[in-house]
Amino acid sequence: MPVVVQSEFNCPSCGSLSRAPVRGSVNAQEEPSVKKAIIDGSFFDYVCESCGSKTRLLYNMLYIDPVRRVLLYLIADGGLDAQARMMSAAKDLPDHEGFILRVVDNMNDLREKY
Ligand SMILES: [Zn+2]
Repeated sequence: MPVVVQSEFNCPSCGSLSRAPVRGSVNAQEEPSVKKAIIDGSFFDYVCESCGSKTRLLYNMLYIDPVRRVLLYLIADGGLDAQARMMSAAKDLPDHEGFILRVVDNMNDLREKY
């Protein structure tokens, strides 16, 4: 089962606190619909519970494509230790031997390199 945690964020439009389910990792093979949503960007769109406005929330996430043997780590908050954090996230995976590991820090890179 994918791990989903609730993350709190302040709506950029009305400032009220909303909760959004965020994912630690996505497996493209197991969840083709999620893969599609990531590529078109809608995966990161959240609707404010108070005013209904849509906002895009990027967060750190591991993207796994077992077919192409690619492991992408999306780093939303930058930082020089991105690679280290990805490796640390990757080591929890059961089987990633021989995968291509890449760190991306924005949606466009994720789309291009996925
Ligand atoms: Zn709002």
